[in-house]
Amino acid sequence: MTEYQGKSAFSGVAIGKIYVFSKGESIIRRTRIEDKEAEKKRFDDAKDLAKEQLNGLYEKAMKEVGETSAAIFEAHRMFLEDPGYLDSVYSMIANEGINAEFAVATTGDNYAEMLAAMDDDYMRARAADVKDVSNRVISILQGVSANGLDSDEPVILLADDLAPSETVQFDKSKILSFVTRHGSMNSHTSILARMMGIPSLITVDYDASTVNGKMGIVDGYKGILIVEPDDDTIAKYQAQKEEDDQKKQLLQSLKGQKNVTLDGHEINVYANIAGPKDIGSVLDNDAGGIGLFRSEFLYLESDTYPTEDEQYEAYKKVVQMMAGKDVIIRTLDIGADKQCDYFNLDKEENPALGFRAIRICLKRPEIFKTQLRAIYRASYFGSVGIMFPMITSVDEVRQIKKIVEEVKAELDSEGIEYGDVDLGIMVETPAAVFESFELAKEVDFFSIGTNDLTQYTLACDRQNPNLTDFADPHSPAVLKAIQMTIENGHKGGAWVGICGELGADTELTETFLRMGVDELSVSPSRVLAVRDAVRKVDLSKYY
Ligand code: PEP
Ligand code: MG
Repeated sequence: MTEYQGKSAFSGVAIGKIYVFSKGESIIRRTRIEDKEAEKKRFDDAKDLAKEQLNGLYEKAMKEVGETSAAIFEAHRMFLEDPGYLDSVYSMIANEGINAEFAVATTGDNYAEMLAAMDDDYMRARAADVKDVSNRVISILQGVSANGLDSDEPVILLADDLAPSETVQFDKSKILSFVTRHGSMNSHTSILARMMGIPSLITVDYDASTVNGKMGIVDGYKGILIVEPDDDTIAKYQAQKEEDDQKKQLLQSLKGQKNVTLDGHEINVYANIAGPKDIGSVLDNDAGGIGLFRSEFLYLESDTYPTEDEQYEAYKKVVQMMAGKDVIIRTLDIGADKQCDYFNLDKEENPALGFRAIRICLKRPEIFKTQLRAIYRASYFGSVGIMFPMITSVDEVRQIKKIVEEVKAELDSEGIEYGDVDLGIMVETPAAVFESFELAKEVDFFSIGTNDLTQYTLACDRQNPNLTDFADPHSPAVLKAIQMTIENGHKGGAWVGICGELGADTELTETFLRMGVDELSVSPSRVLAVRDAVRKVDLSKYY
């Protein structure tokens, strides 16, 4: 049993098989081994697992693409039964005392060279196959998968780091937990893990060559990854998991209840989503609406600018599924850690302070207008709000409103109907906090983005894991900024919500309610916990 200490990005317990995800090319080093029999056995195990994987791929391909394409996997499997190939690997291990990875790589290269030199076209084409299958075995030996997530059972997924665009590509039903070597609490992978409600760890320095395929436990309370736990440990964590599940059930009993404090003050508790596929968990958790639809994920999931119609379909789906409940769509927040290659943005020294979010939209209005048209068209089907990220001045809001009016005029002239859309801004820069009274007069609502507000107020890059001890979102500076925004927002006639991660921190629910917050928008998995916390607050003691 080995323990790796990291930091928790989302609490809870996950128990299951570990899967190390690798995106890069692996380097195969030649090393001397002492125990040749054990090394042969290691190769045999890897070879058997590779054959199992190939059988699975063969079956899948037969079903999905037919026999001709499936045959490739059978050819790969046959290499792993070829006596010449196997003898070559065994004898290198036995005679030269080298590691299995190197023996497989050398055998694969030799075979590929030999096949490539043949006269027969068919045999020449097999050169690539033998390299492919050798790489599969090497990946297994190195404890990584080079081919993305190809496990059938749900796994604890380990990775060096995951970009938001990679995280969204995984089949969520196959992920029990995310564990990354790098990353930070406010990185979007952590946010997505919270959104999915699965335990997640960051800054875990695991040993990729020994943990892949092993049984593991993620303790999202203590931030620990346990590899090959003993029976007592498994029993302890199973009990903890059952307790968690019961608590979740209890929270389910809150469904349909109002979010009202003991002294009768009611607020909205909404959910944050990244796209239509999150709606299931929004409905499961009985959120009152969508307080933040991070629309940039539609862009991150695509290889090119999503068209107006593609966006319209996505927004419409969400609006229709929310059946009249509020849906607040944030316009694209690309830039900083959310990079889209096809935007062709310059590389920047300080991307968090760079050309991002609304700044891109104002400078490239054709992209902005396409998105606004799609949102306005979808607004016809329900109750839609639009909010704009990274605002720093009244002037920006006026420019935005002018573009919004142009879009509405275009739709009018085309006879396209749309709903009555409220406009709001994200308050996530200190400038917006200081200008909050003036800004409130321009818009219908504010949504405080505490993730970026913490970053910019405390001058702590939210992606930098070394700053975790400094980026304290409970800092009085951040709390005062929130208080000021709520007070000024109300004075200027705007309602004020919080959609950053801090909104889900139930230690602060009472504080936020005392400040007069009107809405808290949190990951779907946190909705019920926040609602429970709201219902326990009694503000009358402060009257
Ligand atoms: C925030 O900054 O708090 C926020 C909600 O936006 P994001 O995390 O997507 O930057
Ligand atoms: Mg933000």
